[in-house]
Amino acid sequence: MSDKKQSILIDDWKNNRIRQSDQTKEFLYSLPDLDHQEVGKMVVEQHEKVFSEMDCLDCANCCKTTPPIYTNKDVKRIAAFLKTTPKQFKRQYTIEDVNGELIGIKVPCSFLNEDNTCSIYEVRPLACRTYPHTDDPAFAERPELNFNNTIVCPAAYHIVKRLRSKVNG
Ligand code: SF4
Ligand code: SF4
Repeated sequence: MSDKKQSILIDDWKNNRIRQSDQTKEFLYSLPDLDHQEVGKMVVEQHEKVFSEMDCLDCANCCKTTPPIYTNKDVKRIAAFLKTTPKQFKRQYTIEDVNGELIGIKVPCSFLNEDNTCSIYEVRPLACRTYPHTDDPAFAERPELNFNNTIVCPAAYHIVKRLRSKVNG
C-alpha cells in the first residue's frame, strides 16, 4: 500500500462522510431488500481490497473514538493476560452502558498506545477483532450499525462506497 493512496482515501472519508451521509444511509437501508448472500459476497470482496490499501496503524480512529464492548469471555481472557481478576478488571476498565452492555470506561481506549498499537492485541475483545464488520456475510442485515461505522471508520466508508457503485452499476 502507498502512503499517498492511503492519505487520499482518508481525506475523502474526512471530507465526504457527513456530506454523503444521506445517500450512504439510503443505500444501506435498501440492502435488506436485495439477495443477502449476494450482498455478503460483494462486501467481503470490497473489504479485502480496501484493507489491502489501508493500514489501521495509521488511523486507530475506532480505538480513539468508540469504547470497546466486552463480553464475559473477553473479561476473563484479558484479566488473565493482565494478571488481575475479572472483578478488578471490570472495576478499573469498564462501565455498564444504557443497554446493560459492558463497555470501555474511556476514549481513547485505555489500551491504545501512542503509536496506535494495542497493548492487549493478542487478547483484545471480540468486538475489536471483528470491527468494522465488513467481512460478515450477513452485512445487509444491519444498516444502522453499518452506517455508524462509515462515520467512524475510513475503511468502512470506502467499502460501502465501492459496494454502492457495484450494486448500482
Ligand atoms: S477506524 Fe477502521 S481503518 Fe481506522 S483503525 Fe479502525 S478499523 Fe482500521
Ligand atoms: S482494546 Fe485494543 S483494539 Fe480494542 S479499542 Fe482498545 S486499543 Fe483498540
